[in-house]
Amino acid sequence: MTAAIHLQGLEKVYAGGKRALDGVTLEVPAGSIFGLLGPNGAGKSTLINILAGLVTKTGGRCTLWGFDLDRDPRNVRASLGVVPQELLFDAFFTPFETLELQAGLFGVPRARRRTMELLEAVHLADKAHVYSRTLSGGMKRRLLIAKAMVHRPPVLILDEPTAGVDIELRQMLWELVRKLNREGVTIVLTTHYLEEAEELCERIAIINHGRVVVDATTTELLALAHEKRVDVTIGVDAETLPEIPGVSRVERLGPRQFAILHDKRMLTAGALLARLQAAGLDLVDVSTREPDLEDVFLDLTRGRLAA
Ligand code: ADP
Ligand code: MG
Repeated sequence: MTAAIHLQGLEKVYAGGKRALDGVTLEVPAGSIFGLLGPNGAGKSTLINILAGLVTKTGGRCTLWGFDLDRDPRNVRASLGVVPQELLFDAFFTPFETLELQAGLFGVPRARRRTMELLEAVHLADKAHVYSRTLSGGMKRRLLIAKAMVHRPPVLILDEPTAGVDIELRQMLWELVRKLNREGVTIVLTTHYLEEAEELCERIAIINHGRVVVDATTTELLALAHEKRVDVTIGVDAETLPEIPGVSRVERLGPRQFAILHDKRMLTAGALLARLQAAGLDLVDVSTREPDLEDVFLDLTRGRLAA
């Protein structure tokens, strides 16, 4: 099997008429960490909730781990762990009980449960027997990951796992995701932190208004960003810089400091600097910045890239 998830023309129109998914076709390679990116309201949670069986699609097909969602929803559920966006909790159960109950729901026989092992993996072994309501937000999120893994699904989907989470916990969650992936679990995560997708995901799909805007490897995506930025400090005060072909925009950062945005396909940073010097400017300081996903995203949402 090459695709862990296959979506074909997936559609969702909510009662009331909101079209949240407008024909999504995607393939998530088995064994990968796949990022589903998009601004708020793009349709990410709708897509995940359809796979999780919480929302009914109104069109298209889904296959997960080779099982068709329409024909074989039970096997889809059994092959999938979902960490929802909302922190929903049984406040009066302990983490240990929460995992045991979930294992029971999924029909995992007692002998095959691994409750303590899972709690250790998410660094909650010492909290195994406290009430879940006393856990911090970060601990609750880690408990939800353990809960999603009780039946050892080959595919794990995390919906905005690090929204509103501090840097330290974010790093810990990333490490946990990488560890599960190394153990063979295919991971899909949604995020609106571009930096997170860039750091973690091999492949990224960006959705906007219920449509796939781009679906590519992270490397390919970064190469899509055409606009590059060079900051220069010159030797004298100036209002503007001389016009140079290939420069799309100049921002004055200070009397002697300018940010120069240019299309790297038309003008390399080196050629740009040579032109500035040829125009008689004394360059006191220069720094360049490689485009990141933020730039790609802006380019895409402003319709500047053909995807
Ligand atoms: P995301 O997770 O990317 O932020 P969602 O899938 O939550 O996006 O939402 C996509 C669109 O569908 C939004 O416009 C949202 O308001 C709408 N939507 C989500 N859930 C419902 C619902 N239960 N009923 C009606 N509209 C909904
Ligand atoms: Mg969402």
